[in-house]
Amino acid sequence: MQVLAVTPEIFPLIKTGGLADVTGALPIALAKQGISTRSLVPGYPAVMRAVKKSAPLHSYPTLHSGEATVFEATAAGLDLLVLDAPHLFDRVGGPYGDTTGVDWPDNWRRFAALSYVGADIAAGAISGYRPDVVHTHDWQAALTLAYMRYGEAHDTPSVITVHNLAFQGRFGAGIFGELGLPATAMSLDGVEYYGGVGYLKAGLQSAWAITTVSPTYAAEIRTPEFGMGLDGLISMRAADLKGIVNGIDVDIWDPSKDDHLKVGYSAKTLKSRAANRTAVEERFGLVHDDSPLFCVISRLTWQKGLDVLVGVLDELVGLGVRLAVLGSGDAALEGALLAAAARHSGRVGTVIGYDEGLSHLMQAGCDAILIPSRFEPCGLTQLYGLRYGCVPIVARTGGLADTVIDANEAALAAGVATGFQFDAESGAALVHAVKRAIEVYADKPAWAIMQKQGMKADVSWDRSAAKYADLYRSLVARKT
Ligand code: ADP
Repeated sequence: MQVLAVTPEIFPLIKTGGLADVTGALPIALAKQGISTRSLVPGYPAVMRAVKKSAPLHSYPTLHSGEATVFEATAAGLDLLVLDAPHLFDRVGGPYGDTTGVDWPDNWRRFAALSYVGADIAAGAISGYRPDVVHTHDWQAALTLAYMRYGEAHDTPSVITVHNLAFQGRFGAGIFGELGLPATAMSLDGVEYYGGVGYLKAGLQSAWAITTVSPTYAAEIRTPEFGMGLDGLISMRAADLKGIVNGIDVDIWDPSKDDHLKVGYSAKTLKSRAANRTAVEERFGLVHDDSPLFCVISRLTWQKGLDVLVGVLDELVGLGVRLAVLGSGDAALEGALLAAAARHSGRVGTVIGYDEGLSHLMQAGCDAILIPSRFEPCGLTQLYGLRYGCVPIVARTGGLADTVIDANEAALAAGVATGFQFDAESGAALVHAVKRAIEVYADKPAWAIMQKQGMKADVSWDRSAAKYADLYRSLVARKT
């Protein structure tokens, strides 16, 4: 089976979030299932630098007012189709905006072009290649499904994966004329969305199947609270909606051979975590003692609920915990967390910035990781925490609810608990969860059982890839 993935990001070439991790890892895991994937990606400078340009497989004399070609390349074990369109993608900055983070004003055009080419390839633009399934990711690739539906590839099975419903690609109605879609597409069951054009909406409407990155998030986005205006449409399509949790790269995230650690360890040598713990204490200016050491590794944004944590931080310190925070984002949150570190010198330490290596060390040295998200489509840091014996204390939402087994009485007694859950957005619930964690932490053997249980959990891509493979097969079967 041949799958064409259309994606605005792919790890390790270009990444702003978890979407890139998925599109980078899934093809490799699917290959083990006998499914080959080619990924169509924009030719951003980072992509062009990482690949060797080859003869075009297909050329466009004008694609949204500029010349464009598609060429094939390989990188990091991935088969890529690169859309080389310098007028759209050869820019200094990120994939969606300039160096100051301001979105490119023509993002609608850039990702309409990517999507147009995706649908064109689905329809046979590359000689000798006709994918069995087209799998698109997020709003940037979603219009592929509209081009397919109103074009030649309407009978090719298609999937859209929603990595975060908060990003929808909404634009004014004025752009419609330049998309090259038939007039009938500007309708309620097409691309029209609240009087404008909605890329993600169009994809949700047109895809054969919809997936999101956890079963709980799949249920949540059918409700007004999490649906961000699309809950009605998603509910209508509930029969075609599935939640499949993300895996992690268990080779990169392996505590027994991780170069970022002071000392490697396994579930059998948990005591060796102590050296990593000391390194974290030193890096964050924390006192050395036996009290539990918690961490936060996060974008500092409203979604992540860190304002809730800040609201109860003094209380947590009063309970005797120490806290190491690594993150960057909203200036107000950065300020509040730096102020907390100043107020609780030696008990709270804050590092503002993005530091991959330090994030590994924290997972290896801290006792628990706090994740108070308001919503979390899947979440990765709790999966790393499980793998590293850094017990996750998480808001009960989305993928956090699906991947962490709460240490209630029954789960503790059965030895199956892997972490603690609490009601999202509630400071009191967060404090209560921390109190429960402190209690278990005081019982060293019970805590070790929990750490080991987490380390045993299968967080690899294999299981999830098998679910995607099943989905593809069921869609192909539906076609025939
Ligand atoms: P999201 O994609 O919403 O930010 P996820 O939990 O899915 O949340 O993924 C976040 C990823 O980014 C994880 O790999 C996490 O370790 C990493 N990360 C977040 N903030 C930092 C930081 N300040 N330094 C290093 N890694 C970070």
